[in-house]
Amino acid sequence: MWIDSHCHLNHSKFNPDGGVYEALRAAREAGVIGMLSIDCLIREEFSGLLELVKPLENVWCTVGTHPHDAGRDDEKSVSLDELVSLANSDDKVIGIGECGLDYFYKHSSQNDQQSCFRKHIQACLKTDLPMIVHARDADDDIIRIIREETSGEGMRGVMHCFSSSTKMGHEAIDLGFHISFSGILTFKKSENLRDFAKDVPLDRLLVETDSPYLAPEPFRGAMNQPALVVHTGKILAGIKNVSVDEMARITTRNFFSLFNKAKAIS
Ligand SMILES: [Zn+2]
Ligand SMILES: [Zn+2]
Repeated sequence: MWIDSHCHLNHSKFNPDGGVYEALRAAREAGVIGMLSIDCLIREEFSGLLELVKPLENVWCTVGTHPHDAGRDDEKSVSLDELVSLANSDDKVIGIGECGLDYFYKHSSQNDQQSCFRKHIQACLKTDLPMIVHARDADDDIIRIIREETSGEGMRGVMHCFSSSTKMGHEAIDLGFHISFSGILTFKKSENLRDFAKDVPLDRLLVETDSPYLAPEPFRGAMNQPALVVHTGKILAGIKNVSVDEMARITTRNFFSLFNKAKAIS
């Protein structure tokens, strides 16, 4: 019984011919009993995403601005108060993000990304919801800004699709964060990442697909979907030397303890 802690069910790739429902069926068949569909655009996507997940059992969503879009005028117009009220607007909204810093693509300026990130951290502190952090080539600024905004206290959240340095990973764990591994963990070249996974405490581990991107081995290059999170989970079980069933239990339990606004599935 797995949970995909990060996917994008409202992505157009899922939606031709009602494809998203096909993906949900495939997920259930693979033992993926729940999933968190992540928002990237508050103005353009959030209301549609909420509408999509509302009737779906054990499917939840978040609200937030992706760092790629932090410079957009419509996203900048979302005040902290509005973000807080959207986050509190429905039981299905269980986290804030994805937000963070992406200095690899730099689709938005560093200034815009940083102020957007700070706004999202403040919204997490006000709502006590966890944050989904997207970090790429920005390790030091991610940690520095979280420390500054939380007065060094840290906060609840997850470093999603973790692929940053081992140093940053340990700093994030010290700040209270969970670490979510995606299909990248299964790639041949990801030796360092697998080494880091050995160090992550069992109670901080999550798994995700980030679908429709980043399919794990042996499906690399194909379109990803929540059902495939199982393959990342299997590799993680091997790294941590626990059975596959035990890793499913651990990551599912961790999901509900972090995203405690979602009701645990009995
Ligand atoms: Zn991301
Ligand atoms: Zn994502």
